[in-house]
Amino acid sequence: MAERIEGKQVAADVRAKVAEAVSALPGQPALAVVLVGEDPASHVYVRNKVRQTEEAGMRSLHHHLSADASQADVEDLISTLNDDPEVDGILLQLPLPKGLDEQRAIECINPAKDVDGLTEASAGRLLLGKAGLRPCTPTGCVILAKSALGEDLSGKNVVVIGRSILVGKPAAMLFLAENCTVTVSHSRTQDLEGLCRTADILVPAVGRAKMVKGDWVKPGAVVIDVGINRIDAPEKGEGKTRLVGDADFADCEPVAGHITPVPGGVGPMTIACLLRNTVIAACYRRGWDIPAEL
Ligand code: NAD
Repeated sequence: MAERIEGKQVAADVRAKVAEAVSALPGQPALAVVLVGEDPASHVYVRNKVRQTEEAGMRSLHHHLSADASQADVEDLISTLNDDPEVDGILLQLPLPKGLDEQRAIECINPAKDVDGLTEASAGRLLLGKAGLRPCTPTGCVILAKSALGEDLSGKNVVVIGRSILVGKPAAMLFLAENCTVTVSHSRTQDLEGLCRTADILVPAVGRAKMVKGDWVKPGAVVIDVGINRIDAPEKGEGKTRLVGDADFADCEPVAGHITPVPGGVGPMTIACLLRNTVIAACYRRGWDIPAEL
């Protein structure tokens, strides 16, 4: 029976290290969060980010533009934050309302303040193996894999399912940087199940509920489930729903060595890694040493 990787606990440990690091810095890092429009889920995410930033001892600057904000309004705000010496990190909450060009807005963020690691400059630095700000969710996946297997992941066979810019591709590059042997699979991959069975670390990042079955998993493997899918849950009452991952947890749990639950696995790591990136961005920009605990 697999050991559950408690993402909530690992994320709390990362946040505690961030708070410890912040308390020893010569100044207080600040994260600016930009929210455009009224998407209820985005409001919840932003509230959590603001709260956790402050709990870690950092300043949080919240900017809210109305749903009818233009591309120029968004870009002007980002440009003001780029020029503000008090701001260390800029997080543009996605998705933006329809009609706004997300990638163009992201590209306006000064790469030195790109705490989501989504600009072309950050992606390029990751590919080149240069120091920089890494995307948060994939960074969380690596930290969770290390929490199960220890710091040294070298030589592990990793299969990432999904090749998105946000998760699949950067996750592959980050595991490669850990000296893993990485295969990126996707919707056109042949014999996906057979390929998954070669993985010491399996990282489904697709968005298909319970797609990965127990017989896709090599006995003893680590499953880091990125997927978040809302499905009907009639057992909880009429019209109720619940969240599940891309892995069929009940089916995979008896086979895997370690597995992340959904919710409570990769999800909590994303904000924790955002806070970590804010400290790293502040250190790079202000010429401070990066705290060893990070
Ligand atoms: P995406 O839709 O951009 O990418 C999905 C990828 O899956 C694509 O590259 C596609 O090629 C691949 N794919 C689709 N069907 C497939 C199939 N049948 N077999 C193999 N591969 C297939 O999605 P994304 O943004 O990468 O997100 C993936 C999942 O991760 C979603 O459920 C999302 O909600 C979740 N997610 C979670 C977090 C978190 O904090 N835990 C963060 C980001 C995304």
